[in-house]
Amino acid sequence: MLPIRTLSRPLRLTLTRQASSAPRHTVIPNRFAATTRLASSCCSGSDHPTPPTTSTKPSKPLSPIMAGANSGDVEEYLRQSHDRLFENNRKWAEEKKAKDPGFFVSLSAGQAPNYLWIGCSDSRIPAEQITGLEPGEAFIHRNIANLVVNTDLNVMSVINYAVRHLGVKHIIVCGHYGCGGVKAAMTPKDLGLLNPWLRNIRDVYRLHEAELDAIPDEEKRYNRLVELNVVEQCRNVIKTAAVQQSYKKNQYPIVHGWVFGFNDGLLTDLKIDFKDMLAKVQKIYNLADE
Ligand SMILES: [Zn+2]
Repeated sequence: MLPIRTLSRPLRLTLTRQASSAPRHTVIPNRFAATTRLASSCCSGSDHPTPPTTSTKPSKPLSPIMAGANSGDVEEYLRQSHDRLFENNRKWAEEKKAKDPGFFVSLSAGQAPNYLWIGCSDSRIPAEQITGLEPGEAFIHRNIANLVVNTDLNVMSVINYAVRHLGVKHIIVCGHYGCGGVKAAMTPKDLGLLNPWLRNIRDVYRLHEAELDAIPDEEKRYNRLVELNVVEQCRNVIKTAAVQQSYKKNQYPIVHGWVFGFNDGLLTDLKIDFKDMLAKVQKIYNLADE
């Protein structure tokens, strides 16, 4: 763990992220796989406030990169880990075309996705793969801890465009157990640039303080905060004028709150009562009339 921190931050992040897929590429030396554990520890990469400790007797030798690899090894690793994406892409395009010769013709014609997915940036939750959706079926937005922040022009633009122009029928806010962003927010510590972002989760805790404080088990409390964060982000989606006006006019989109679990790969529907939540939101945040 410690030696890797001697690398410059951008290079370290690149290596740890790409190393997670290293085993699929036989040319990449196994030593790089030693960094996989770091990359998978948190949705915000190695920014986790309490990073996992490595064993004092690692089963694999430390990566030469961590110990100070020669520049040739690093360059070769970076080249291979970059090029494999193009190899994969060529295979994917060939397979799609072989299965459906008109696939790219229809893809070029435009998009009309039914779903807007707002998920966490965590690399372990590929929205389309876990839901069996094909290209063109989901409009995707991801950020640390799947937050819908009123002043975030990015997510607000995504919702606006997805609802008003693409006419999505469902908006899914999907969180996940084991979310590093949520865990970081539970850590009473100055996290620098992440503070304003994570404060949105701390605000969720404050809103549900009594319920959360009544859960003695820390893991269960953390899981519940993950769920409550999803619920509050659903509420934030419903507060938008785009959603309220479209629902009044079309009876869609419907907003859903889901949580993904790494243990079994399954999604849990939190079954938020959309109509009830909308009615309560509109007591104060009614923007349904244009
Ligand atoms: Zn996360």
